[in-house]
Order: sequence, then C-alpha cells, then structure tokens
Amino acid sequence: MPTKAGNRNGSRNQKTDTARAKAAAAPDPGRPEPVAARNARANRNMYFMAIAMAVRLRANCRGNRVGAIIVQDHRIVSTGYNGTPANMVNCLDDGCYRCANRDKAYQSGEAYDLCICVHAEQNALLAAARFGIAVEGSTVYTTMRPCFGCAKELLQANVLSIYYLHEWIPSPHEDPVKTEKQRAQYDKLMTRFPGGVHHLRMDDPDYEWAVSKKGPTVVSTDVHGTQDV
Ligand SMILES: [Zn+2]
Ligand SMILES: [Zn+2]
Repeated sequence: MPTKAGNRNGSRNQKTDTARAKAAAAPDPGRPEPVAARNARANRNMYFMAIAMAVRLRANCRGNRVGAIIVQDHRIVSTGYNGTPANMVNCLDDGCYRCANRDKAYQSGEAYDLCICVHAEQNALLAAARFGIAVEGSTVYTTMRPCFGCAKELLQANVLSIYYLHEWIPSPHEDPVKTEKQRAQYDKLMTRFPGGVHHLRMDDPDYEWAVSKKGPTVVSTDVHGTQDV
C-alpha cells in the first residue's frame, strides 16, 4: 500500500516529468536546436550512427576509417574502430605492411591475410568477448557497410540487424566470373540477417577523411532487407 507521503511524492514526480516533456517538445527559441540534436531525438538510428561516427574519430588506418557500436535493448554494449592491435605500431605510422602498400601492391578488399589491422566491427565483437558481453540479437551500427569478413563474423555472432552509413564493395577481379561469384557470396551473407541490413542516409561531415575510395551511394537492394531507411 502506498503511503500518503508516497502518493504525494508520486504526483509531484509526475508533474515534474510532464514539465520536462513539455520543455523537450518546445525548444527554447533563444537557444536554437542543432540539427544533429533534432535528428538524434527524432530518429534513434541516427542517434546511434552519430555515436558510431564519434567512435570512428579514433580510427587509425591508412584505408577507410570506420567506427562501429553494438546495441542491445537501446543500450550501447560495445564499441570498436579500426587499426592495428593494441600495443602495436599504428597503421598511420606504417605499422601495417599491407595498408602501407595499399592501392600499390594491394587493392581494397585484397590481401587481408597480410593485413594486421583489426576492423571496427571485429573490434566491437572482440571487446564484447573480452568483457563477457552477449551480442546475440543485437543491432550493429557501423559507419561503413561490413566487408566480407566482418559480415560473416557478425552473422555467426547472431547479430540481428545492421545499419551502415557508407557503401563498401570488394574490388572487382579481372575475371568477371570471379567478381560475380564474389558478389553472390557476399549477398548470400547479407540476406541472412533476420533484421536486415540497412543503409542509413545521413550527413557525414568527415566523409572525405573517412572514406578512401568514393563509390556509388547505393550498391544493391535485395528482398531480404538490404534496403534504404
Ligand atoms: Zn590499416
Ligand atoms: Zn571488415
């Protein structure tokens, strides 16, 4: 049974909450609301992607700069950005032979067996593993569409859905048949995420810095959830 004091406190809290809700709904005209703040409140996906972009600021790789976060029940449970493993020479300081020879000896998406940089999505999964955090049924927000390797790892970790900001496509082979097979294998992975793989359209003020190879905005759509939102 609530006490009288409890009832009084309850109704006072309710009034406070109502006042807060009204204040949030009507921004102070003397303090113009940033567009990013409006987007973050109106669209939870944009809120989480903005955080993934903030995580990306620590990326240390000569290739694309990528940030990723793992979200469970609207809470961030892990983050990752790309670069060499901890306590090793950073990629930007020539710590990775493959990245240092990127676009000379090795193309985008090639020679991962030589590359020691850990991808943002991998780092987010690995941080969760390290600290014993479940990722099953989670949503991943990443500033770039997951590469072939990250896609199968996210799938195998039972990630439910993916939201990405920029497109990624593996470099085509000289042999068009190989390119076609590669694309088909990649699409096969993409179609397996129960919650879909979604391209999120939003401004990226650091696009020039973050994306090494400017590709088409949207590569493909499919019936299983690779779609724009
Ligand atoms: Zn690198
Ligand atoms: Zn990757």
